Amino acid sequence: MPEKQDTRKVTPRSQDFAEWYNDIVQRAELADYSPVRGCMVFRPDGFAIWEAIQAELDRRIKRTGARNAYFPVLIPMSFLKKEAKHVEGFAPEVAVVTHGGGKELEEPLVVRPTSETIINHMFAQWIHSHRELPMMLNQWCNVLRWEMRTRLFLRTAEFLWQEGHTAHATREEAERETLTMLEVYRGFVEEYLAIPLIVGKKSAAERFPGAEETYTIEALMGDGRALQCGTSHFLGQNFAKAFEIKFLDESNQLRFAWQTSWGVSTRLLGAVVMVHGDDQGLRLPPLVAGTQVVVVPIYRKPEEEAAVMASARSIAEALQAADLRVQLDSREGLTPGFKFNDWEMRGVPLRIELGPRDIASGELVFARRDLKGAEAKSKAAISEVTVRAKTVLGQIQKSLFDQAKAALASQIREFDSYSALRKQLEGEGGGGFALVYWCGEPACETKIREETRATCRAIPIGQSGAGGKCIVCGKSAADRAYFAKAY
Ligand SMILES: [Zn+2]
Repeated sequence: MPEKQDTRKVTPRSQDFAEWYNDIVQRAELADYSPVRGCMVFRPDGFAIWEAIQAELDRRIKRTGARNAYFPVLIPMSFLKKEAKHVEGFAPEVAVVTHGGGKELEEPLVVRPTSETIINHMFAQWIHSHRELPMMLNQWCNVLRWEMRTRLFLRTAEFLWQEGHTAHATREEAERETLTMLEVYRGFVEEYLAIPLIVGKKSAAERFPGAEETYTIEALMGDGRALQCGTSHFLGQNFAKAFEIKFLDESNQLRFAWQTSWGVSTRLLGAVVMVHGDDQGLRLPPLVAGTQVVVVPIYRKPEEEAAVMASARSIAEALQAADLRVQLDSREGLTPGFKFNDWEMRGVPLRIELGPRDIASGELVFARRDLKGAEAKSKAAISEVTVRAKTVLGQIQKSLFDQAKAALASQIREFDSYSALRKQLEGEGGGGFALVYWCGEPACETKIREETRATCRAIPIGQSGAGGKCIVCGKSAADRAYFAKAY
C-alpha cells in the first residue's frame, strides 16, 4: 500500500532540467542515493529496465559471435601500468586495495575501472595460433571510477555495463569488428530505446586511453546537451604489444593480435529518462518498460466492485497470456485520478481504464502515455483487447522515436561563423549539436572547448563532401564534426 505517497510537485522540466531529472528518477522509484558518496542504489523499477536492456542487447551481441565470460573485479596494479596511455587515462580515478585480511598486500590491487588489462593478460595465455582467432568475449559487470559527484545513472563511481573484448588476426578484421559493434549499438538504442542518434568517430582528444580510434553513438537530451551512449574502440596492437598477445599465422610467422573493445552502461537509463520524460514523469518505450500495460478498474459503489474487478482481472490475464508485461491496479482507497498520475509518473506506456458502463457496452478506454489530451484516449472492444494493445504499443514505440527524432533534428544547427557558433553555445543550458567544419587541429578544438564548453562529440564517418574552411582558424578542413555541451 502506498502509505507514504509523495505529493510534492515535480520541478517543471523547462524550469530546472537537473532538478526535474532528479525528481523523476526518485519519484518513479528508479534509483536512490547510497550512503557511500558517489554510488547509487538501483530500485526494482530501475533495475527492470536494465534487465530488459541486458536481455535484448545480450542476444544481439551473441549474434555477432561473441560469448560471455567473467573476469575478477581486482586487477594487479602493475597491469594498469603496462599500456602507457591507459594508465595515464585511468590512474587518477582508480580505487586501490592495499590491505586484505588485516595485512598490507605485497602488490596493491586496483578495483577494475575497465578490464582491458586483465582480459588481455589472459588472452596472452590463451592465444597461440591463428586457429584460436578471432577470440571474442563479453562480460556484464560493474566497474568503479572514483567520482565524488553523483548524478544518478549519469555519473557515479560504480556503474554497471557490458564490456566486449576481441582479438583478431588482421587489422582489417578488427576494424570491421569495431564498426560491427557500433552498428549493433546504434540499432539497439534506436529500435529498442527509441532514441535517435548521431554516429561517428571521436577526435584524438576524446579517444579512449590506449585506442587508435574510438567510435561513438551520441544522443540529444531534453535540455539540449549531448550524452555519449556507447563506444566501440579499435585498439590496434597497443594492448597486444603491452601484454604480448602473439600468434603464429598461416605461414608460421609470429604476429601481434589486432584488438577491439566496446561497451554500453547504465547511463542508458539516464538517456531514456532525459530523452522521453515530461513534467508528468517517465515515458518508457514499450520494448523496455518493466510494465507495458496497467489495467485500472474504476467503480464508485461497493456493489459494482465484484463485476468490475472480475472483468479487469480477466483482461489482465488475457494480456499476460499474450506475453505482455501487465499490472492490475487493485489498490484500494485510492482515487482513479491518483492512480492515473502514479502510472504516468512511472512511465507505463498504455493504461486501460474499465468501469461498469464500459463493461455494459463491451468497450474499454485506452490511454497512451506518449500523447496528450483527447488524442491520448481511444476506445477498444473488450473482445479485441490483446490485439489492440499490441498494435497500440507498437505505435507508442514508434511515436516516441519520432518525437525524439524531431527534437534532435530541431537541435542540429550548421554554422560557418565562429561568432555565431559561440553565441549559440554560450551561457547555461544546452544549445544542441553544432555541425561545423573543423581542420582537425587540437588547438582549434581546445579553443571551442574553452570558450563555449562544447566538445567534439562525433565526426561522421565516410564524409564525401567538398570540404570547407575550419570554423576557428579558417584553414581548409576535409570533414565536418558535431560539437555540443555534454554530460
Ligand atoms: Zn582549425
